[in-house]
Amino acid sequence: MMFDIDKEMLPRDELEALQLKRLQNLCERLYANVPYYRQAFDECGVKPGDVRSLKDLARLPFTEKQHLRSGYPFGMFAVPRETIVRLHASSGTTGRATVVGYTKRDVHNWGELMARCLCAAGLGPADFIHNAYGYGLFTGGLGVHYGVEHLGATVIPMSGGSSKRQVQLMRDFGATGITCTPSYAMYLHEVGMDEGIDIRDLPLRVGVFGAEPWTEEMRQEIETKLGIDALNIYGLSEVMGPGVAQECLEAKCGMHIFEDHFLPEIIDPATGRPLPPGETGELVITTLTKEGIPLLRYRTRDITTLDYTPCICGRTHVRMGRIIGRSDDMLIIRGVNVYPQQIEAILVQEEGIAPHYEIEVSRLENLDHMEVRVEITEGMFASDEVRVMLEYERRLQKAIKDFLNITVKVRLVQPRSLQRSEGKAQRVFDRRNES
Ligand code: ADP
Ligand code: ZN
Repeated sequence: MMFDIDKEMLPRDELEALQLKRLQNLCERLYANVPYYRQAFDECGVKPGDVRSLKDLARLPFTEKQHLRSGYPFGMFAVPRETIVRLHASSGTTGRATVVGYTKRDVHNWGELMARCLCAAGLGPADFIHNAYGYGLFTGGLGVHYGVEHLGATVIPMSGGSSKRQVQLMRDFGATGITCTPSYAMYLHEVGMDEGIDIRDLPLRVGVFGAEPWTEEMRQEIETKLGIDALNIYGLSEVMGPGVAQECLEAKCGMHIFEDHFLPEIIDPATGRPLPPGETGELVITTLTKEGIPLLRYRTRDITTLDYTPCICGRTHVRMGRIIGRSDDMLIIRGVNVYPQQIEAILVQEEGIAPHYEIEVSRLENLDHMEVRVEITEGMFASDEVRVMLEYERRLQKAIKDFLNITVKVRLVQPRSLQRSEGKAQRVFDRRNES
């Protein structure tokens, strides 16, 4: 299903012509209205008029989170304050929050792009969508909310929290779609089972999950436990919020970035140099249509790949792979680069393991030490003896060692003993800089 066939199936050459026109216009707007960009263009020795092809993008300055922070709160806005109709702020997962502003047109476009996402996930005007992303300054809740309305479906504005009530209302209202973080979807399943409500038996059909990294194995787990199709959605507040990219139901293989609005690149995070298609690196996004706080070559810090091969769904827009980590999430353990998702991918392949884990890094006698705590399932807990557990821990340690070449301590913990989150799960605790 497609919300906007003309745009989503625009032939590549027309798409690129549109991107170039919008990029040129963006550069003019930024140079004229945002002091940071005027200065950055001048320092690079380029003028907006120098942008003659998409290749010229590589000559233009980057934008980093620190630029938004140093302009806190409104320094990067490109329009007069009277034309801003809404503010949001990033959830501050990695430091001080950054503030973003939207014009009427931005809010409209956002709703439209979110509608494209829901539609790509197989949802339509007849659906009831249970929105459990947090409402408030976080972009998740309101972003999805307006998308559902734009699509003409029915939104149930739950926000996070009160998990028992969430499951009860899912049953009572007969929601057919759900939007939340993947970890919260797993949690709702657990809460439902406690309440005697098996989500599998409800009309729920589709879940649109994002805002935190997850794996293919977790998709399998969610799809089986909840009896739904689970699809990946990507976004970040600096660039807009949810709805920057979305997986299609047909392929379930990578998220289409809506390229008529966002121009993506992959760069080497260390050197800033663009990488050829297919390579893994940091995702950089230029917002082509945003008015309130348009960004040129924004460094997302998210590590992924871009796939330009045609998709079976017919969309011409490029697909981004799962986020395998954030460049600032990357843990360096005794010199080895490790992303938490790599550990997760290994854990969830094992039977008897629940997809709940924590990673703690500490420094013992000047050496980095990583402990992975992972929950076992109820079945495993009921049946097993200590010897078997130890054996199991050893096997997981070996699997991690074989795959990542680092030695870690794996500790199996009882079912449901790790903290659950209602929004983004915090799974990594780096205590090396604590005294
Ligand atoms: P914060 O940076 O404070 O978490 P946001 O709330 O805007 O701010 O979150 C955006 C970030 O969430 C992205 O940069 C990315 O790291 C993560 N994210 C969003 N969607 C996904 C997804 N589908 N898979 C993995 N990570 C995601
Ligand atoms: Zn597709």
